[in-house]
Amino acid sequence: MSDGRAERIAEFVEPLRVEPGSRVDLERDFDPRYKSGMKKREGVELLRIGVSLLAEYQTRLAAQDTYGVVLCLQALDAGGKDGTIRHVMSGVNPQGVRVSSFKVPSAEELDHDYLWRYAQRLPARGEIAIFNRSHYEEVLVVRVHPEFLLRQHLPEHGPGRGVGDDIWDRRYREINRWERHLTDNGFKVVKVFLNLSKEEQRIRFLKRIDLPEKNWKFSAADVRERSRWDDYQKAFSEMLSATSTRWAPWYVVPADRKWFARICAAAVLAHTLMEIDPQYPDVPPEVRKDLLVAKRGLEQEAPAGAPSDPYAARHPSSEQAGPHGGKKRGKRKKRRKHG
Ligand code: ATP
Ligand code: MG
Repeated sequence: MSDGRAERIAEFVEPLRVEPGSRVDLERDFDPRYKSGMKKREGVELLRIGVSLLAEYQTRLAAQDTYGVVLCLQALDAGGKDGTIRHVMSGVNPQGVRVSSFKVPSAEELDHDYLWRYAQRLPARGEIAIFNRSHYEEVLVVRVHPEFLLRQHLPEHGPGRGVGDDIWDRRYREINRWERHLTDNGFKVVKVFLNLSKEEQRIRFLKRIDLPEKNWKFSAADVRERSRWDDYQKAFSEMLSATSTRWAPWYVVPADRKWFARICAAAVLAHTLMEIDPQYPDVPPEVRKDLLVAKRGLEQEAPAGAPSDPYAARHPSSEQAGPHGGKKRGKRKKRRKHG
C-alpha cells in the first residue's frame, strides 16, 4: 500500500506488542491510561481510517479464500470487550465475521480436551473469527481458581489428586504449538488484552449499579473476581510472557479510555490483515476469454440508444485494465521495525 496508511498503523501498534521472549510485569510495563499523546478528535479520525481499511482488507481476505484470522480478546470484567467488538466490526461485512463468546464451560465441553470448544469456533478460510474470551481463560480464570481444573476430568488432576504447578507451563506450550499449527496452515492468530486499571474498573462497576439500564451487566461474581485482582494481574503477566510469539503476538491495549482502546484494537486487526496482504484471485486466461464472450452477448442486448456497456462508457480505462480494474496489485511489503 503506497498511501502510508499501512506504515502509520504499523508504527501505531508497535509499542503495544509484547516482545516474544520478554518477561512482562503488567503493572510495571503497561499503563492502562496511555494514549500515545493522542487527542480524542485525532483518535476518531484514526478509527475511521482503521475501520475503512478493515473493510477493504476483509473483502480481499474473503475473495482470496486462503487465509483466516482469529482475534482473541481478553480482559477483566468491565474491560470493554463488547464495545470494542461493536466498534471494530462496524464497517465490515457481517457475512465474513463470526463472534464467539466463551463462558463457563458446559458439561459436554468439559468432557473433551480443553482446546476442543475453541477449535469448534475457528474461522473458515476467508473469515475473521473474534473470540470474546478465548482459550486463554484456561490459563487465567482456571489458574486463579484451580478448583475448575478438577472438573476437567484430567488424568493427573482428578479429585483428591491436587494441582501441580507444571500444568500451566504445559498449557502455555500446548497453546503455542496449537497456534503455530494454525498459523502454518493459513490461520493467523492475534491476541488483544484490554488492560484496565483497578480504579477504572471500580468506576465502571459503580456506573453499572447506579444506572438501572446497566444493572443487567453487573453480577455479584464480578466483585468476587475483583477481590482476586492481584492474582489475575500475575496470571496475565505470566501468560503474556509465555505466549506472545513471533507467529501469534499479544498486544496490550490501554483500556481506561474506551475510545483509545477501540482504535488500538481496530489498528491491531488492520495491521494483521495488512501483513497477510490478501489479493483478489487472478482469473486464468481461459476464464477471462469466457468473460469476454459473455460481455459481447450482453452488449448486443443493449436497448436502442443506450451505450452497449454503460460502465465502460463511464470508466474508459476499465476495459483494457484486465481482471483487477487497472489497479496495480500491491507487492508484499517487508515490515519495518519501529523503535
Ligand atoms: P460481560 O461483559 O457481559 O460480563 P463476560 O464475558 O464477562 O461478559 P459473563 O457471562 O459475565 O461474560 O462471564 C463469563 C464467565 O465465564 C467469566 O467469569 C469467565 O471467567 C468464565 N469462563 C470463561 N471461560 C472459562 C473456563 N474455561 N473455565 C471457567 N470459567 C470460564
Ligand atoms: Mg462478566
